[in-house]
Amino acid sequence: MTLKKLDERSYSIPTRLIYGESFTTTWDYKHHVVPPITASSTFRLDSATRGAEGFEAIGQAGLSSDPIYVYDRMGEPNNNMLQQSLAIAEEAECAVTFATGMAAVHAALTFALDKGSEIIAHRTLYGCTYSLLTNWMPKFGIKAHFADLRDTSLIAPLVNENTRVVYIESPVNPSLELIDIRAVAAAVAKLNESRPAERRILTVIDNTFCTPGGQRPIPLGIDVVVHSLTKGISGFGVEMGGAVVTRKEFFTPLILHRKDFGGTLSPTVAWNILAHGLPTLPIRLPRQQQNAQQVAEFLEKHPLVDTVKYPGLPSFPQHDLARRQMLDYEGKFAPGFMVYFILKGVSPEESRARGMRMMDYIAENSYTITLAVSLGQIRTLIEHPGSMTHSAYSAEEQIKRGLDPGGIRLAVGIEQAGDVIRDLEAALEHCR
Ligand SMILES: *Cc1c(COP(=O)(O)O)cnc(C)c1O
Repeated sequence: MTLKKLDERSYSIPTRLIYGESFTTTWDYKHHVVPPITASSTFRLDSATRGAEGFEAIGQAGLSSDPIYVYDRMGEPNNNMLQQSLAIAEEAECAVTFATGMAAVHAALTFALDKGSEIIAHRTLYGCTYSLLTNWMPKFGIKAHFADLRDTSLIAPLVNENTRVVYIESPVNPSLELIDIRAVAAAVAKLNESRPAERRILTVIDNTFCTPGGQRPIPLGIDVVVHSLTKGISGFGVEMGGAVVTRKEFFTPLILHRKDFGGTLSPTVAWNILAHGLPTLPIRLPRQQQNAQQVAEFLEKHPLVDTVKYPGLPSFPQHDLARRQMLDYEGKFAPGFMVYFILKGVSPEESRARGMRMMDYIAENSYTITLAVSLGQIRTLIEHPGSMTHSAYSAEEQIKRGLDPGGIRLAVGIEQAGDVIRDLEAALEHCR
């Protein structure tokens, strides 16, 4: 590219402070060891033709080896690099990043829908996803059916000609129930055999709880994976982001969805996740898992604890399924960093009141455990789904869907496990 020769010195200093050397060849994406942070919301177009070509190719810039960047919301280098890494992480063809996990959930649910489309979802989901399906989608003529999809035979009876998506999480947030991913993919593939291409049903899974380091649903037959990058992938609790990971055929519609609904991830945030979060995931995860295993074993033995759900415990009701589908990159069992437990009580109310006492004690006295929602960080976080992350479900709905009113969710970090157990022990002692 030849740069225009301008007599910059003939302009005033205040103006030159804005434009500097006018055009620079100093910028070099090829030789930085760590990719630079791009911080340009719009891109210089060498000619009107290039501008026109850039608009024409929106939706492909992220796949092209010679992309034309136009404007950040349509695609830029840091997001594209993160997208490539996320696709590698999930053993998928492509990924599209979003501003938050919820922006990604929305895109994954709606990019293929029309007015009148129907969704079949597991009965328990992340609270905001449930709220999206029940409070917002119906306003746009989209209906959601809920069933206990641990039993995949419940899918077929809910299917009609409008069904377009089957949506699950596994493990389920927060109860840690598992759904047999292969079985869901197989059940939907069978239904699709007799459906025309335009009425094909897509399988979508929220893989946030496992991260790709602990479970890769695409090779198991799932069409679309959703992530809150805010959690284990960014890992340090300093960013928000989301991603949809899928096949190339869905790349352009997802990019167009992001362009028009506007849920674009900031390049600075994308850079942070690209430079720090994702590359360290495979070393953070084993440490979190070892800690979670020890914490779960401690809780299981504690006299005040009624139930502990952790896929790594032999007592976990779906332990065999966990061992089949929750696997790290070496094929080793990856039971995750989430632990769910319920305290003893003569009634659910008593168990709930005791749990609240425990969490209040932790909020005031704990060094290693923080009362806060979110998960997947280097710090251990504790929360009460019934009144916090899952308050979109009414109390009756919670019980119907397998959420104990007293259930407590722990997201284990990378501390020394003994220190976390010491703080848990003190908190349990307090609510004896
Ligand atoms: C947090 C979370 C989300 C939403 O992600 P945000 O980044 O907070 O928008 C979606 N699904 C699951 C399972 C989550 O834990």
